[in-house]
Amino acid sequence: MKVVIIGSGYVGLVAGACFAELGHHIVCVDNDARRVLALRNGVIPIYEPGLKEMVKANVAVGRLSFTEDLESALNGARAAFIAVGTPPRPTDGHADMKSVYAVARAIAEKASGDLVVVDKSTVPVGTGDEVEHILKSANRPFRFAVVSNPEFLREGAAIDDFLRPDRVVIGAEDGWASEIVSQIYNVESFKCASMLHTSRRSAELLKYAANAFLAMKITFINEIADLCEAAGGDIRDVADGIGLDSRIGRKFLNAGPGYGGSCFPKDTLAISKIARDYRVELRTVETVIQVNQSRKRAMALRVLDACNGSVQNKTIAILGLAFKADTDDMRDAPSIPLVQALQDFGAHIRAYDPEAMDNARKIFSNVTFCGGVIEAAAGADAVVVMTEWNEFRHINLNTLYSRMASSVFVDLRNLFSENAVVAAGFDYWCIGRKNAVAQTLRDPLAVQRRTAAI
Ligand code: NAD
Repeated sequence: MKVVIIGSGYVGLVAGACFAELGHHIVCVDNDARRVLALRNGVIPIYEPGLKEMVKANVAVGRLSFTEDLESALNGARAAFIAVGTPPRPTDGHADMKSVYAVARAIAEKASGDLVVVDKSTVPVGTGDEVEHILKSANRPFRFAVVSNPEFLREGAAIDDFLRPDRVVIGAEDGWASEIVSQIYNVESFKCASMLHTSRRSAELLKYAANAFLAMKITFINEIADLCEAAGGDIRDVADGIGLDSRIGRKFLNAGPGYGGSCFPKDTLAISKIARDYRVELRTVETVIQVNQSRKRAMALRVLDACNGSVQNKTIAILGLAFKADTDDMRDAPSIPLVQALQDFGAHIRAYDPEAMDNARKIFSNVTFCGGVIEAAAGADAVVVMTEWNEFRHINLNTLYSRMASSVFVDLRNLFSENAVVAAGFDYWCIGRKNAVAQTLRDPLAVQRRTAAI
């Protein structure tokens, strides 16, 4: 089937490559001319394991192409997926829908036959109604229908998540449209655990609800980690113990510096705003947002405490800048408030990330970007692990120690074994276990003093 994907970012590009892999004829459209040119030249604008190879293979057999020209792309297509960004509006935190509606208007103008418009972007409930209104108001002589088909892929594991998802949700009001979208997925090589058919509004709502729940799970374990630090438990044991309960599950129970990325921060904010529009208070979600924001800001205090209360004129090596491993995405990464706060406290920052350096350069100033872990740590007073990159697990800790000016090792992802780090000579600070950082943080006066400073 010929299918058009509009928006060639993390979701659109992965969806395009994977649908092509499933045998469909895919045209990816983007209004960023440089991005389209790069894609045509085989340059993938994002880092996602396996994506480059999949794009290359499907372009080679003629199942995948890239264009800026929506009109020619739509010619002969039976479905068009919208996969453009829906970032928070800077003024009020509501999802900014201008790209989605611009695409809807462009489709209404340029379609050349009956078309199912499938919304894959994460959008507020009622967006499908509005897109349908835009399409039908154009009075074109074609049948249009709008389906909500939210995407649940995780960056870093996007291809596997797309081709072997826990579920595909098809939210439709028209039988023929639902049937076409089902056909796109009903391919033998597509391994989906469940196909869920819902109303369009339910599909729109459940995507935000899923992300809000996962954000809540992370925030919960982070707070339990604080309690472990104060009371003397070990968060890894606690997470294992509660995660073994099949009603809870172990995933999303790794304590860390707070969630970031392109989805959880914006989607928790958006669902809380949507709810308020409907005069419903999502107090759990609103609390999660606040707790997570203050946690991200407070991470700098941990580094400060590990450095005997001051980082003034000290050099801090940051290992990992991306919001999580296996992506170059820096959107709302916890490294951003950390680096900025440490700079405000007078620190010099050296940093290394295996994939996110180009994106990080656009965000930070006065950071020395380095070509590897050992280079970043050279002469540093402290090393701070911010992203759980696999590469970091293989660091030679003895070499690292020998290159540094001091022995502070702050592991905000609990990536390392304390014994190994201490054996190499470091003082080790982590999340969710009783240590000196936790004790100073529990001193209410110290907390007040430093929070005021931030
Ligand atoms: P992105 O910013 O990476 O990509 C969006 C793309 O759309 C860009 O290439 C941009 O140039 C293009 N675009 C914008 N306006 C356009 C227009 N009018 N015509 C054509 N192209 C246009 O965004 P993303 O991370 O892929 O997210 C897309 C949507 O999917 C969002 O709603 C997001 O919440 C949702 N989502 C994202 C993820 C994720 O992990 N990134 C997962 C699930 C759902």
